[in-house]
Amino acid sequence: MKGFEHLEQEIAKWKEEGVFRPLTELESDQGSRVIIRGKEVIQLSSNNYLGLTTHPRLKQAALEGVERFGAGTGSVRTIAGTFSMHEDFEKRLAEFKHTEAALVFQSGFTANVGVISSILTEEDVVISDALNHASIIDGIRLTKAQRRIYRHADLDDLEAALKETQSARKRLIVTDGVFSMDGDIAPLPDIVELAEKYDALVMVDDAHASGVLGKNGRGTVDHFGLHGRVHIQVGTLSKAIGVLGGYVAGPKVLRDYLIHRARPFLFSTSHPPAVTAACQAALDVLLEEPELIDRLWDNTRFFKQGLESLGFNTGKSKTPITPVIVGEGAKAMALSDALFEEGVYAQGIAYPTVPKGEARVRTIVTAQHTKEDLEQALHAFEKAGKKLGII
Ligand code: PMP
Repeated sequence: MKGFEHLEQEIAKWKEEGVFRPLTELESDQGSRVIIRGKEVIQLSSNNYLGLTTHPRLKQAALEGVERFGAGTGSVRTIAGTFSMHEDFEKRLAEFKHTEAALVFQSGFTANVGVISSILTEEDVVISDALNHASIIDGIRLTKAQRRIYRHADLDDLEAALKETQSARKRLIVTDGVFSMDGDIAPLPDIVELAEKYDALVMVDDAHASGVLGKNGRGTVDHFGLHGRVHIQVGTLSKAIGVLGGYVAGPKVLRDYLIHRARPFLFSTSHPPAVTAACQAALDVLLEEPELIDRLWDNTRFFKQGLESLGFNTGKSKTPITPVIVGEGAKAMALSDALFEEGVYAQGIAYPTVPKGEARVRTIVTAQHTKEDLEQALHAFEKAGKKLGII
């Protein structure tokens, strides 16, 4: 169709640079091994940290949710789409997070956008880590507040931002709990101290920490023992929790405000019963099967050590997200392709998702992986890395 020449030109450029990628289709469920293009490969690219996407208790709960309440909800939450199960789940989630209240959004993405875009005015300032997730950035683009970006995890730069903005009505510091491309953990205790010194609010996005860090996977705030000192916790139900959705946990006044003002919440239909029922079952699993989190961390240590002893650059990762940083985008894609040949699916990630020159293959181990899976994957990395002159 005519009219898209400007897009065609851009795409031609990506193809030349070797960073144009068709979507990868999975022909199986999201297990430790998946079928892609008819081939069984070890999955090292999913966020299914605990293997909950296929957990029998979640699948059963989803089926029962559909049977009892139907396939969809037929309305936004604020009109006729709030079912008792939505409210029950939010109460349980708040209890789990040790907060007064919680509110579920359709995704982690819309939770971030919904909060940041709605709770600040032009009299306020949002202060954000340079490597925060795209959904935080988009929330900031939509807020009327002034913005100040501080260098990644740089407390001096954060303090400078707090000093410069003392005349603002409110300051909101926003940080990822675990950074999604590097797997490092935010220095939250120091951030909280600065926030208390300068009377600012703190919001943490726990997308990669929910179900991963803290007791039973309660997240970064629990991991650092900061209950009651972080004002807003956002998280996702789409990664370790294994289903779909996002949440905001915090004081009741925040929940009340968001219900009236957060546009993604107000203007988009609520989660289908299967989703909410499966999320409820996931909470049960987190509380009753903590061995899954232990296995996730055992696997993380084993795999990270293996990559490092092979000589790969794994950056600053402290979590199950381990990047293998190779430099140019085309090289990351070549490594990803070579790994696939060796029976491993680990996607290459290039600019603009990560800065130019820091392209990588990002790996994520899960509780589902066996030692055999991980040994085989390390062997594939060794072969592919040597073939491409990376190690
Ligand atoms: N925040 C971070 C740090 C993320 O990595 C992601 C997922 N890519 C999100 C938010 C969005 O979560 P969801 O996939 O549930 O929209």
